[in-house]
Amino acid sequence: MSENQDPCLFCQIVAGDLPAEIVGQTERSVAFKDIAPQAPMHLLVVPREHFGDIAQLAAADPALLADMIELADNLAGENADGQFRLVFNSGPRAGQSVFHVHGHVIGGAELGWTPA
Ligand code: IMP
Repeated sequence: MSENQDPCLFCQIVAGDLPAEIVGQTERSVAFKDIAPQAPMHLLVVPREHFGDIAQLAAADPALLADMIELADNLAGENADGQFRLVFNSGPRAGQSVFHVHGHVIGGAELGWTPA
């Protein structure tokens, strides 16, 4: 699932062309604070390279997905006792609004369930 958003918001953040509160990075991934946090820790982890969604990323480059997850885990270690929820919305009906794959890294509080 992908939709065109030109220019891509998260590509612009990765390039430094739009401001964001960067909290961590690797050679291949960047993490920044969500602009509308839903929990004490609410970060977004994105690949520097553009993929529309998690399935496209996983099919093309599983090592990059692993890099993003490792970055998320490290940041949760720094900010939320190493405990976190990692959410990838995929498609508009699942809540995806930005079509550059991103994992929501959520934690820092007792989290409720379910999403619907
Ligand atoms: P989605 O709805 O799963 O695609 O998540 C998109 C997320 O991006 C939402 O949680 C938004 O709050 C967040 N967001 C949108 N624009 C920005 C921004 O400029 N900086 C940081 N987060 C953003």
